[in-house]
Amino acid sequence: MDVTGLPPYDDANVFAKILRGEIPSRKVYEDEWALAFHDINPQAPVHVLVIPKGRYCSLADFSAGASDAEIAGFFRAVGHVARSLGLEAPGYRALANMGDHAGQEVGHFHVHIFGGRPLGRMIQSARG
Ligand code: 5GP
Repeated sequence: MDVTGLPPYDDANVFAKILRGEIPSRKVYEDEWALAFHDINPQAPVHVLVIPKGRYCSLADFSAGASDAEIAGFFRAVGHVARSLGLEAPGYRALANMGDHAGQEVGHFHVHIFGGRPLGRMIQSARG
């Protein structure tokens, strides 16, 4: 059991396959630390996922296990992607689901970026 108390990282998850190039994605941005791509089932006019390149299941896993450079690089990429999509001025939402209560579907840590319309109140509107 790791620090999160969650099952270990599963290399068969869909984002691991995207990182390995085994399945396609509509790429928005990539650098040494992160990959950003459009969500396959968008919940807003802009719905982009930003994932770290390392094998982390959750925020707890990432924050405890990733190096300072990985953490800085990842969160810089999240901010860069939001800015580059033109979302800074109108505003947007960044959200990460962890575990069952949040409905996390893919066991590779990721931040959703939602934008392109007023998003309503936080919990009710974030996932439609
Ligand atoms: P979660 O519920 O884990 O926070 O979010 C997982 C997200 O991944 C969902 O919004 C879902 O639509 C998206 N997703 C699942 N499979 C794929 C895929 O194969 N490609 C892309 N681009 N997004 C995916």
